[in-house]
Amino acid sequence: MDIASNLQEILSGIPRHVTLVAVSKTHSKEQIMSAYKAGHRVFGENKVQELVPKYEQLPKDIKWHFIGHLQSNKIKYITSFIHMIHSVDSLGLLKEIDKYGRKYNQVVNVLLQVYIAKEETKFGFDEQELMAMFQSPNYLACYNVRVCGLMGMATNTDNELTIRNEFRFLTDLFKKLKGSVFSDSDYFKEISMGMSSDYAIAIEEGSTIVRVGSKIFGERDYGEKEIE
Ligand SMILES: *Cc1c(COP(=O)(O)O)cnc(C)c1O
Repeated sequence: MDIASNLQEILSGIPRHVTLVAVSKTHSKEQIMSAYKAGHRVFGENKVQELVPKYEQLPKDIKWHFIGHLQSNKIKYITSFIHMIHSVDSLGLLKEIDKYGRKYNQVVNVLLQVYIAKEETKFGFDEQELMAMFQSPNYLACYNVRVCGLMGMATNTDNELTIRNEFRFLTDLFKKLKGSVFSDSDYFKEISMGMSSDYAIAIEEGSTIVRVGSKIFGERDYGEKEIE
């Protein structure tokens, strides 16, 4: 199957209100252009050093989503063009994004990453940490970020029930926040969850953004570059 037909197959199976982020990390500009020529405009990358050259060399109507662990010292390279940062996992990072947002006169769309898996290697806030942050004067002073929702990654397992419960937990937390802290926000509406192996479950559990890589572009070959 080629990239265009993979895309078409996935899009035909997901509801219209769900955004498909085509995760193009490790894949070439030519492969991204195959998806682009098929009409796709929303792509995701997880490394700043890989995203920046792709941004520079590819069409400017692409909406780039940053989905990886973001280091504070690299925010400045993507602030001016990034459509959404999915992976904000600390107040420190949020403050830094706000700082560069102010500098570049942008309001940066972000999602707060929540720790939902049973894996030490994954990042994110827990509920108490989020609640504490929402009270913090430093958080309330971040005018150049727009919190658009939550993001989570389920445990890497074949156990569907485990995955489903983790996604459900994220949706429940989202609803709780939507009904309290964010009740006045028109922007707080996204739940980014679901990848190639579990996006169908994620959508059943309320996902509004799925991040799908290998099912579109094929398996990734990290070669010697693999560091995470
Ligand atoms: C790589 C990646 C994906 C896509 O993974 P696939 O299994 O290839 O669909 C989704 N989300 C994040 C955060 C990723 O790093």
